[in-house]
Amino acid sequence: ARPVRISVQLHPYGDGRKLLLSQDITALEQAEAMRRDFVANVSHEIRTPLTVLMGFVETLQTLPLTEDERLRYLGMMSQQAARMQSVVQDLLTLSRLEGSPLPGMNEWIPVEALLRRSEEEARGLSATLSMNQKKEHEIVFPAPAAMKAGGMLAGVNAELQSALSNLVNNAVRYTPAGGSIRVNWETLDNGTARFSVSDTGPGIAPEHLPRLTERFYRVDRSRSRETGGTGLGLAIVKHAVQRHGATLHITSVVGKGSTFAVVFPASRVKPCASKAAAAAT
Ligand code: ADP
Repeated sequence: ARPVRISVQLHPYGDGRKLLLSQDITALEQAEAMRRDFVANVSHEIRTPLTVLMGFVETLQTLPLTEDERLRYLGMMSQQAARMQSVVQDLLTLSRLEGSPLPGMNEWIPVEALLRRSEEEARGLSATLSMNQKKEHEIVFPAPAAMKAGGMLAGVNAELQSALSNLVNNAVRYTPAGGSIRVNWETLDNGTARFSVSDTGPGIAPEHLPRLTERFYRVDRSRSRETGGTGLGLAIVKHAVQRHGATLHITSVVGKGSTFAVVFPASRVKPCASKAAAAAT
């Protein structure tokens, strides 16, 4: 059992009587500890690339370098700056998600558009990541006709796109070149819809699964950094998904691969008109 923390205060009245106030501050202290952890994590994530960047600046200032070397250093500096930029960008996205009102039901987004955009990004990312290797990933999305028949989702376009793209991009980033990534969209009989991404990557051990959507939680730090990860992607996905009344499900087998699925409630799903008509007849 977790210890409970109680704060006790004595308030004296003028007439000699005293009022005893006790308050359970367990949750308060936990929130405070989380806030401290978060600030420490942010500082670390910014300071590390900043230190490297400063090192390069000093080298450029003090060492006589050839033009080639100078360009190489500038390239590495630009990488570190980009890393800091991604962290700040993701932090802003997270804080915006937390601060804005829940997505309304009046904007309907075609699932086809979300899937197409995510497919383009995934193929681009795969090409970049496997540049020095012979093989790219095998990336399978629903066929164009199936995408067209995907129906609509009610919500905020940017949030839905970022949730789906983040999951697909993670599959590409953690799956070695040559592996495969399968994306699926299905509307179920009870009116809900399920988006899923399965990969043949390294998989995730069960003890990590519950913590995966925590800010800055990473199983493999070096792979995350190598592929431009900030450690905030799944925290963003979880927030965006929850705001839409949807749920994130992660299943994984070490050495085989992982499946990340998002199930949207029927209230936010509008099946494709022709599909609905076909079902009604
Ligand atoms: P990151 O920027 O580090 O990828 P995320 O929040 O997106 O941050 O993911 C958190 C961690 O979950 C990653 O660092 C990685 O260890 C693990 N992870 C996410 N997606 C996958 C995947 N498809 N296969 C294996 N591990 C994954």
